[in-house]
Amino acid sequence: ASDSTYRGRFAPSPTGLLHAGSLTTAVGSYLEARSRGGQWLLRMEDLDPPREMPGAAANILRTLEAFGFEWDGEVVYQSQRHHLYRAALDQLVRQGDAYGCACTRKEISEQGRRGVDGMVYPGTCRHGVAAGRSPRAWRLRVPDAELGFDDRLQGYYAQQLQRDIGDFVLLRADGFWAYQLAVVVDDIEQGISDIVRGADLLVSTPRQLWLRQCLGSAMVSHCHLPLMVNAAGEKLSKQTLAPAISPALAAQELRLALRRLGHVAPPEVQSLAELWQWARGSWSLSTVPVGPVVIE
Ligand code: GLU
Repeated sequence: ASDSTYRGRFAPSPTGLLHAGSLTTAVGSYLEARSRGGQWLLRMEDLDPPREMPGAAANILRTLEAFGFEWDGEVVYQSQRHHLYRAALDQLVRQGDAYGCACTRKEISEQGRRGVDGMVYPGTCRHGVAAGRSPRAWRLRVPDAELGFDDRLQGYYAQQLQRDIGDFVLLRADGFWAYQLAVVVDDIEQGISDIVRGADLLVSTPRQLWLRQCLGSAMVSHCHLPLMVNAAGEKLSKQTLAPAISPALAAQELRLALRRLGHVAPPEVQSLAELWQWARGSWSLSTVPVGPVVIE
């Protein structure tokens, strides 16, 4: 099946090397795109230099290459796209959707309340910054309404944005662009039709859909792959010391990633090339578990 309108992507942050969780997400996103005859783009989300690991971006690309991933077009680097984020923020401010916020982290933690993803901003600067203070960050106004969507794997997911999330940051007080803004601007600009990524980002999706709407863009399809957790039930990440993937063991690692996604390759399928060929022919989202998947 060839679907010339399908454009997927993989968007790693170079805060660490690829680990079992991020590799599995890459595999699922790639196979979903290729089995639909779609394109698959690669975007390096290098927007947060203080959290980045030197050499990680190049290492991630080398690892993906060694695994045999083939992406369409040039790799896009968020660090080179500040002008796009600036233009989007300017538009949102002009429309009255974004506003400057003078509050400090301390003030917010004292006056805000806990939501589903950190503190809910109490709305102090919603109608302007108090006299004598100046904006440090820029926030997007969210509606007092439920915003939900049908995830292709996780089913219906919704949040009441004002109650659960609050007005969220687009440009941080430290001068860096927020992930939420950059990811939406780039997905729109790159014409992404299908976002396939890890379930840890499910909690971000309603606010991203709202932001997308404010920027006047059409809906996009979402599929959140199962969360990969360790034996203690913690999300695999650099923080939980998930080991980096070794390209030398690519065939073995690909077999494991496929199994975590519910696709068990027969033992006679051995080499990397054979595994990919088998996976392309066998891939079906209906076989992928909702998760979480425990990684041994
Ligand atoms: N860069 C994000 C991450 O590595 C993923 C962004 C996305 O897929 O939307 O967690």
